[in-house]
Amino acid sequence: MPDTRLLFLIPVDALTATKTSFDMTTYEQIFENNRIWIESKTKNDAAFFEKLAKEQHPDYLYIGCSDSRVPANEIMGLEPGEVFVHRNVANLVCSIDLNVMSSINYAVRFLKVKHVIVCGHYNCGGVKAAMQPKDLGILNPWLRNIRDVYRLHKEELNAITDESERYNRLVELNVQEQCVNVIKLASVQQEYMHHGYPRVHGWVFDLKSGMLKDLKLDFDKILHDIQEIYKLTD
Ligand SMILES: [Zn+2]
Repeated sequence: MPDTRLLFLIPVDALTATKTSFDMTTYEQIFENNRIWIESKTKNDAAFFEKLAKEQHPDYLYIGCSDSRVPANEIMGLEPGEVFVHRNVANLVCSIDLNVMSSINYAVRFLKVKHVIVCGHYNCGGVKAAMQPKDLGILNPWLRNIRDVYRLHKEELNAITDESERYNRLVELNVQEQCVNVIKLASVQQEYMHHGYPRVHGWVFDLKSGMLKDLKLDFDKILHDIQEIYKLTD
């Protein structure tokens, strides 16, 4: 039996959608797609995979949602090797999650990325689930990070009467708070102090238009403000 609690992570429109070309790909077709992709990559550059196998020097670390509709490389128009990617449900940067912490540490300390991007998206099932004040079992500890964002910004959010607007704003505020969580890290503060990078950016992807929205967070101000308490450069 599927865990019915997971249904809360599936957007309502996805549950009611009719079959589209997106779900027509068979398992076998994927390997044929792979063959065609190899051909397309080597057509104008015979050494494409030889160079790809050597090493990576991406300028970007992208932390995004696991949602299948938000493919990092594709929406950014970047090729393999150009962006280091970490994805989880609702793009959270949780200090006791070794997975995201390891990804950030590696990207910042060793790959020396110039930009760290936290990218959320409207219609995020994880954020929607967190907005419901109910017991969602195994999801509770993960969603609590988003509920904490709501608590931090309760006044602003409760003042928004339209529920879908409030939901969209929580998506944005969640991105903002996850950026703050990135800036709290010793690795990010120390690398920035020594090299002037990485800088941290918050984005939201709009599924309905395909547009990436830069929330234009003030990185220098956030860094300055949080260092009153979280200064980890010494
Ligand atoms: Zn999502």
